[in-house]
Amino acid sequence: MITNSCNDSVYIDISENIKVIKSSVAEAAIKSGRNPDDVRLMAVTKTVSFDKINFALDNCGIDLIGENKVQEFLSKKDELHLDGVEKHLIGHLQTNKVKKILPYVDMIQSVDSVRLADAIDKASEKLGVVTNVLLEVNIGGEDSKTGFDKAAFINSLHEISQMSSLSVKGLMTIPPICDDDLLLEKYFADMHDYYNEIKEMKLQNFDFNILSMGMSGDFYQAILHGSNLVRVGSAIFGARIYK
Ligand SMILES: *Cc1c(COP(=O)(O)O)cnc(C)c1O
Repeated sequence: MITNSCNDSVYIDISENIKVIKSSVAEAAIKSGRNPDDVRLMAVTKTVSFDKINFALDNCGIDLIGENKVQEFLSKKDELHLDGVEKHLIGHLQTNKVKKILPYVDMIQSVDSVRLADAIDKASEKLGVVTNVLLEVNIGGEDSKTGFDKAAFINSLHEISQMSSLSVKGLMTIPPICDDDLLLEKYFADMHDYYNEIKEMKLQNFDFNILSMGMSGDFYQAILHGSNLVRVGSAIFGARIYK
């Protein structure tokens, strides 16, 4: 019998990868004094073909996916088995694409400016919905990255809290790439402090319960510092091939 062994082994890898990741997520959650269920695993599906994504959704207990690009998600979504699956946008969103994506996602994690927040608020109001968002913080202060910078952040919060068609659920970050574990942990710890501080402010339209940080290479440390949503792509699906 001739089987497509190449594809089969890809699926076995995905299933193994998810098992291993789930068990380290659980270990880190327990180590940080929480239950394994308190930390959600998102499968980041950018550049991944729909057959692989569907395998993870159908067979591996994945119930949360993240996509970076509006166009890519819209072109893939009809092929995906999305019943009961939460979809989050995690990449930079241009204000002129807000309307296109809003009906199809459950959360926008990458709100990186007051201007974008405002565009989402207005478009949501028109649709008669309240949109769940996270605010993206540029914790390393890098010029190359989007996200609120720390200094301007607090003022922006008050403006955003006036936007009644948003429900601000928490914070998201992508820390700088760094070899220094101590520095990386400092970024995560700072995020955790911000998260707690803002939660305490009890701002209108803010309902903080998500701290989204940690990717393939650093989700364990992120969880130790309070992350409760990790976004994992290449450790599940293998290295990304950009076309
Ligand atoms: C691509 C991406 C991820 C996943 O990255 P991996 O290192 O492949 O796990 C997580 N978050 C965001 C915002 C991304 O763009």
